[in-house]
Amino acid sequence: MTIYFLTGSQHLYGSETLAQVAENSQRIVAALNGAADIPAEIIWQPVLTDSDLVYRTIRAAEADEQCAGVITWMHTFSPAKMWIWGLSILRKPLCHLHTQFHRDIPYGTIDMDYMNLHQTAHGGREFGHMCAKLGVRRRVIVGHWASAQVQGALSGWVRVALGIASERRMKVARFGDNMRHVAVTDGDKVSAQMTFGYQVDGFGVGDLVERVDAVADDRVNGLLEEYQATYDLADNVLPDGDRRDHLAYSARLELGLTDFLEEGGYTAFTDTFEDLHGLRQLPGLAVQRLMGRGYGFGGEGDWKTAALVRTMKVMGEGLPGGNSFMEDYTYHFEPGAEAVLGAHMLEICPSIAVGKPRIECHPLGIGGKADPCRLVFDGKAGPALNASVVDMGASFRLVVNTVSGRQPAAELPKLPVARILWEPQPDMATGVTGWIYAGGAHHTCFSQNIGADQLVDYATFTGIECVLIDEHTKLSELRARLG
Ligand code: MN
Repeated sequence: MTIYFLTGSQHLYGSETLAQVAENSQRIVAALNGAADIPAEIIWQPVLTDSDLVYRTIRAAEADEQCAGVITWMHTFSPAKMWIWGLSILRKPLCHLHTQFHRDIPYGTIDMDYMNLHQTAHGGREFGHMCAKLGVRRRVIVGHWASAQVQGALSGWVRVALGIASERRMKVARFGDNMRHVAVTDGDKVSAQMTFGYQVDGFGVGDLVERVDAVADDRVNGLLEEYQATYDLADNVLPDGDRRDHLAYSARLELGLTDFLEEGGYTAFTDTFEDLHGLRQLPGLAVQRLMGRGYGFGGEGDWKTAALVRTMKVMGEGLPGGNSFMEDYTYHFEPGAEAVLGAHMLEICPSIAVGKPRIECHPLGIGGKADPCRLVFDGKAGPALNASVVDMGASFRLVVNTVSGRQPAAELPKLPVARILWEPQPDMATGVTGWIYAGGAHHTCFSQNIGADQLVDYATFTGIECVLIDEHTKLSELRARLG
């Protein structure tokens, strides 16, 4: 994917100055493309000097399927009436890079020629005013373009743009419906497609059963070898173990699911333990492995979380740490060590694991099916966040809580599921209270590599409300805001 780089100027200064503007902006683009952590190619566009050119360049960005967004920089003053026509058709994410070619004021030599070139300080304000007046959704990044801070912020924004580009074309497959009677995992799929772009397609679980049963045995055996090479295996799923056939069925499930999703172009999916007719076990290991390969997932029919997990995986691609479907499982209220234990029946993504996961096969209390196989591991400690999209009726709301992740203080020998502990910010009581007031779900995307700033951007560009609960949150202000 690419990002267009738009440089704003005007004809006032003459061709020599405009040539210098073009050269300077090309040097900035080259430097940004040389920064290894910006995960898209930034494409320089000819300097914009009038309304027609602005319109045509933004129209080209909108028409280019490979273009995920635009960066604008006002090198000189660029009278903003010339941006109205173009900005009025912009739907892709915009980053206003409020930077200046030279970092420092050259006190000894600064003259009017220099001032004709270095006008971001007022030119960017003119542009910012027009964006505010038009209601253009944008991210503003201020600082010198060569600084690590600015490049880091830009990289984060590019990742959001890539996530949104992917989400606008995403297809989510649902096997069965929502878990009966559950409110927060349901919602308006038509409004979701209008807001986020993704489509949600329902299937009877029998369609999946057909694919699972059709998987050839040699593929199952090949995948069993891969499991052996990748994970530790509990005794009962080793080749001579009494649950080996259960592991073989898990491999078959993974292959059948993969076939189904690939054939239909689906990058996220849901299932529900209430609708498994014809499947021998609830997909656990299969779901974990698919999430590990980049698919979004939501349990119990939770299509909003499935889509969010996929989008955040696209945003975080290539970064250390992971993104997983997650559930607030149970609490630890010990004074001074308060924490939430996060897990699910089975379906936590190994991208958040510390150490080598272990495949185990145990009974599951619900669903009435054969003992499912699952990867068991602890999540990696460190800064993280939980994000939840909820349907409030008239609109969607993104609720985000930054957390400090940590490994469980002791073994959990009788709870053989993947898990992680975290302390919500700013503290357990405030974080959880804020989440409850905001109406956040018990299902989330738990992320170790997406920042709160990026999710605020994501909410901005999808046009939804964002409630951020972080280290600065004051409960009284949050309550007053939520009403
Ligand atoms: Mn659940």
